[in-house]
Amino acid sequence: MADLTELYQQTIVEHNRSPRNFKTLDHPTHQAQGDNPLCGDQITLQLTVDGDVIREVGFQGSGCAISQASASLMTSAVLGKSAGEAERLFRAFHDMVAGGADAPADPAVLGKLAAFSGVKQFPARVKCANLAWHTLHAALQADRNPISTE
Ligand code: ZN
Repeated sequence: MADLTELYQQTIVEHNRSPRNFKTLDHPTHQAQGDNPLCGDQITLQLTVDGDVIREVGFQGSGCAISQASASLMTSAVLGKSAGEAERLFRAFHDMVAGGADAPADPAVLGKLAAFSGVKQFPARVKCANLAWHTLHAALQADRNPISTE
């Protein structure tokens, strides 16, 4: 069992302390709520999608450092991307944190998101890291039902 502190890499600490895109949008076209009752993490995500491009993204939330840092990094990663590109990032991220050793993270695709690669050693934390991405997926699918990891 690796030391839990390995999870809290500098990127995660810094994004939890100063989350990017932590705001409410005036005219969102898409939004979704995510809930991870196992840990008590909550995310409300709003998007302004113009054509197929994510022009604005904002989130509100509370919970553990991993869930909030993941939301911050997710919003930074998908801003300016197409919905299709965002969905591909979602799958790459999911494979990284939940996949086995046969699904190694691709640093070229994931960039800073690779900070979460250590999460797969901590199964209880995978849902914390994935919450923002599942919420993004729901928002892009225009799914109005609240998302729960349970
Ligand atoms: Zn959590």
